[in-house]
Amino acid sequence: MSISVTFVDSCMVIHDGRNKISVDPIRPFPSDFTFFSHAHTDHLCRNYYRTKLTSGNKILTSKETSLIAGARGFPMPEINETYNGFQLLDSGHILGSRGLLIDDDLYYTGDISTRERAFMKSATIPEVRTLIIEATFGRAHYVFPDITGVIHKTNKLISEMYDQGLPVLLMGYPLGKAQILTRLFSHWEPFYVHDVVYKMNNTYKKLGIALKDSVMFSEAEKQGLLSRTRPWVMISPLVHLRSNFVKLIKKKYGAICIGFSGWALDNRYRNMMGLDHAVVMSDHCDYVELLEFVKASNAEKIYTFHGFSQDFAHSLKKLGFDAEPVAKSNVPKKENDALLQHSLDTYI
Ligand SMILES: [Zn+2]
Ligand SMILES: [Zn+2]
Repeated sequence: MSISVTFVDSCMVIHDGRNKISVDPIRPFPSDFTFFSHAHTDHLCRNYYRTKLTSGNKILTSKETSLIAGARGFPMPEINETYNGFQLLDSGHILGSRGLLIDDDLYYTGDISTRERAFMKSATIPEVRTLIIEATFGRAHYVFPDITGVIHKTNKLISEMYDQGLPVLLMGYPLGKAQILTRLFSHWEPFYVHDVVYKMNNTYKKLGIALKDSVMFSEAEKQGLLSRTRPWVMISPLVHLRSNFVKLIKKKYGAICIGFSGWALDNRYRNMMGLDHAVVMSDHCDYVELLEFVKASNAEKIYTFHGFSQDFAHSLKKLGFDAEPVAKSNVPKKENDALLQHSLDTYI
């Protein structure tokens, strides 16, 4: 099978010799198949249904992704979970996330995590000849701490805040991270969730993930349940300190903001986001896990994309792998760009 993988107009396109497959296109792209790995909006073609350009494309995605995308206002009426030669494998990133296996020979990962956390299981790793792997944290210093330690550290931090009578906001992106935070920290009382998180939690619940019932922020405010003098915990989207929501919550309730992200490994992150505390917790592989994924796949040819794709391909080459970034990728020029780009606008 002769394979080509390229970015055409910022859309990744795989030619497998028979079909043209657009993967996670950020805009409608005419091809035989379109694959959506998961329902984060950096992987979801927002105006997919507002154009006829892609009307011939068959959509490959998981049932969960189509339901979550639908709940977010991006309905996918006709989807396929399998199709001649295509197989979707769990990528461990968020609920419903999958990678695309083509003819047992080529694998596109989408976003991946091989780390078990809360209700999430590790990504499946297939053995293939060609691997197209994300490299969000593709630099050697991105090595995440053990999840048990992170949970312990966070509980300790919340407990210290409770001792001082301070409310706590646990912040992560509202799809994926917020549900993990809900599962891990809903034993704290009283426990609330931001309205956006409430909606996503409900979708997860409908898909069989057990999450504690909780009062949403707007309802709690209306009922006067939130106090400035008695502590409470709320799961909220990770937004900048300068956002109106955080300004309000700080001014009115004096809440402490704890953000959860892989980028928290960078010392500047906490200040950049204006957080009181930043905790390292990610839904992506760290550098070591990426490397282990590559090794376990036994791939002869590796293409990298997303985040530090140049750096990761370079590291792989030094280790003797045949690796290169997917051509014409919009690789951020500076580390700062990558950090900003990922922390501010992608995980919505
Ligand atoms: Zn994602
Ligand atoms: Zn992504």
